[in-house]
Amino acid sequence: MDMGINIQPADRINKLPRYLFAEIDKKIRAAQDKGVDVIKLGIGDPDQPTPPYIVRRAAQEIEKPRCHNYPPDEGLTEFKEAVAFYYKERHNVELDPEREVCVLLGSKEGIAHISACFVNNGDINLVPDPGYPVYGIGTMFAGGEIHRMPLLAGNNYLPELQAIPPAVADKAKLMFLNYPNNPTGAEAPLAFFNEAVEFAKKHNIIVCHDQAYSEINYDGYLPPSFLEVKGAKEAGIEFGSLSKTFNMTGWRIGYAVGRAEVVEVLSRYKTNIDSGTFKAIQYTGAEAFTHPDKEMFRQEMSAMYRERRDLAVSALSQMGFQVRVPKATFYIWVPVPARFAGSMEFVSYVLEETGVVLTPGRGFGEYGEGYFRIALTVETKRLREAMARLRKALSA
Ligand SMILES: *Cc1c(COP(=O)(O)O)cnc(C)c1O
Repeated sequence: MDMGINIQPADRINKLPRYLFAEIDKKIRAAQDKGVDVIKLGIGDPDQPTPPYIVRRAAQEIEKPRCHNYPPDEGLTEFKEAVAFYYKERHNVELDPEREVCVLLGSKEGIAHISACFVNNGDINLVPDPGYPVYGIGTMFAGGEIHRMPLLAGNNYLPELQAIPPAVADKAKLMFLNYPNNPTGAEAPLAFFNEAVEFAKKHNIIVCHDQAYSEINYDGYLPPSFLEVKGAKEAGIEFGSLSKTFNMTGWRIGYAVGRAEVVEVLSRYKTNIDSGTFKAIQYTGAEAFTHPDKEMFRQEMSAMYRERRDLAVSALSQMGFQVRVPKATFYIWVPVPARFAGSMEFVSYVLEETGVVLTPGRGFGEYGEGYFRIALTVETKRLREAMARLRKALSA
């Protein structure tokens, strides 16, 4: 039989780690085929809709012919000004909307592409482990190598910068950081950001801070921006997202802000690849940051996740788990019980016994082994049911 041409993916594709959820997805489908009522605490995708004030603005913009052609390469001024407004209002950070803000197709897109902008073959990026997988994948696509920065419970899930060998630090181009942190739920004090700026200046490294979860926070804690510390705007950029804050994961809009030269290179790179974010969505994104309802909505969402957090933390503690109570993010990071060989075994056991989907820590890197992650992205009633099933399966 003639199979036509022989399809050989590039090395970079073959080097991609097997998709974290592929094996779990297979098990979920098998369970669903058997009629099991699956409760998904795996993927961190908000379960609530985008707020009406945002959807309304989008509906209006879509009707307007001014939105139907290519957006400007440099992004819409309205959106960039709205991002600058948010930074001033929330973080007391001044940004020049034209030089210090880059519009992204979701922050993941910028995180994936920043390495291509600065990394040559064999260069090193410093990557947190456990961490969002895109930092390492973007590095690999650019031909770079990663140096893992372990995030350990004993150090409050902050990387120990002094433990990075100076020869590695001197060769490093980018340092990825992410607070409030996915997957650990940990937060970083300003003192740590200060330390990161000093380290970056000493070794000439661009800090890339990902603050996707800054607006989901509890108990009066307001996560700082990396750019709040002195010298940060010279030392790097911050990625931000509307996805988790405004339940807009499907809309694909985010931004990078900070050091003007870095923003310029990223924008120039993107100009050659995509043609920007749909103008209706950029106008809508501007509305998200500036509408008077935004603060009420943000508080409502945080209150909703806080109720779920308290329920999960209390149920898990009663089961004997050592749980760290997160002050931000919608994740809970929990050590796997000692009688299981590892996080994948534990998560598979729980899925098969209970129909509850968890994420194995191993999927976030080698230092994630021994943990699992719960995403608080289901309603309280379902979360309570999941906890009851878990308790039953673990006491059996
Ligand atoms: C969800 C997430 C993002 C990506 O968000 P988008 O703006 O939707 O691309 C980035 N970083 C972390 C850590 C995330 O969890």
